[in-house]
Amino acid sequence: MFSPQIEWNCSQCQSITTDRRKYCTNCHSMLTWTCTGSGRSGLYTHYYRHRDSCGYCAPEVEEEKQQKKEEKQQEFQALDLSKQYEFN
Ligand SMILES: [Zn+2]
Ligand SMILES: [Zn+2]
Repeated sequence: MFSPQIEWNCSQCQSITTDRRKYCTNCHSMLTWTCTGSGRSGLYTHYYRHRDSCGYCAPEVEEEKQQKKEEKQQEFQALDLSKQYEFN
């Protein structure tokens, strides 16, 4: 199940939100994220780079990648089989 690992807060007016948004609704400053899993934090613009390398933020993305890899492997196996049939 999804549990929020990222907290968004505004360093200008100290407001905290669980919504992923770029700017604070109060003072329109760029929001800062805090990854509760890894304890890291940074500006919104750095979030995607962090998420890509963070196991806490993107477990579902990792699963997706794994699934695609498996699908590809199955395709290759199917190709191998058809080749074998040609040779026989
Ligand atoms: Zn603010
Ligand atoms: Zn993270």
